Amino acid sequence: MGLFDAFKKKKPAGGPRPALPPRPMMRPGMVNKPDPQAENNFIIITLDSCRWDSFVAAEPKVITKLGKVEKRYTYASWTAPSHYNLLTGLLPHTTPQNVYASEYYKEDFYNYNERLGSKGTDIDFAAMVPALWLPQFMQAKLGYDTHARVSLPVLNPKTGINRGFDSFQLMDSHNDMRSMLPTMKFDGPRPHFYMLNVGETHYPYAKPDEDSSMWPRISGVNGVFKKMNDQIADKAESAEDDKFKEDFQFFDQDKLDELKERQIDTVRYLDGVFEELYDLVPKNTHIIVTADHGELFGEAGYFGHGPIMHEKCFEVPYLEGKIR
Ligand SMILES: [Zn+2]
Repeated sequence: MGLFDAFKKKKPAGGPRPALPPRPMMRPGMVNKPDPQAENNFIIITLDSCRWDSFVAAEPKVITKLGKVEKRYTYASWTAPSHYNLLTGLLPHTTPQNVYASEYYKEDFYNYNERLGSKGTDIDFAAMVPALWLPQFMQAKLGYDTHARVSLPVLNPKTGINRGFDSFQLMDSHNDMRSMLPTMKFDGPRPHFYMLNVGETHYPYAKPDEDSSMWPRISGVNGVFKKMNDQIADKAESAEDDKFKEDFQFFDQDKLDELKERQIDTVRYLDGVFEELYDLVPKNTHIIVTADHGELFGEAGYFGHGPIMHEKCFEVPYLEGKIR
């Protein structure tokens, strides 16, 4: 059966329709979950904008306890589409040659059987059809409690990304992974899925205790942040766009080198936060650490990510495993 055949509607069988079993009373927003069909807690962590060579240069000791660090490639060059793709279940890829995409996808999905510790329910591409949405599949088919903790406002709970989650929280600060930890609970009879979008590695590559007046300035980019936050709070300022055009100036290469060092330094800092995370998670928790896209620091005249076609925008670190 080809990939597209999986989407075709099955022909109804002849004869009278069988009666549906009685459905339990449901409150709006409540999801009918089966008994847990998998054993492991599962956490996907995206270090936002953390490019492959920044991660390697930081030489993190704790994060890498999960397993071998691989260089992989994201399907998208900025936050929103990259997280959408990730939540279809497709992880950053290995750019394999001489392989049909459909075969690669099938294998990528099939690997969830081991990651999640499937108890008999086959996790494969066909089981994800037609929604192709991992959180919903984990809730409704595997009986997980599903949660997102996000740092970047473009992933806020009003966006389309928030589907199939029991809880979804945009953190108060864009750069404080540590503040996510007390919100993570692993109690109750069900396994838990968490998606953590971590912002320290995103521009301006700042640790949470750094005074924001010390951040490197691209007024326009800071303005974009501010504007997004204001709009979420329903208090948009109309002069922001004009100010963006007036203020925007490109960094010189010394400044860009400094920014890259700052990103590397946030990975070193996060290594300490991961130690706290690893202490927190129960046995049988499968963790993936990766990035949603890379970042440019002056290569070929680019800074940042998004509308950029450059390999450094797509190279990301990838590692997965259990710590116990
Ligand atoms: Zn991002």
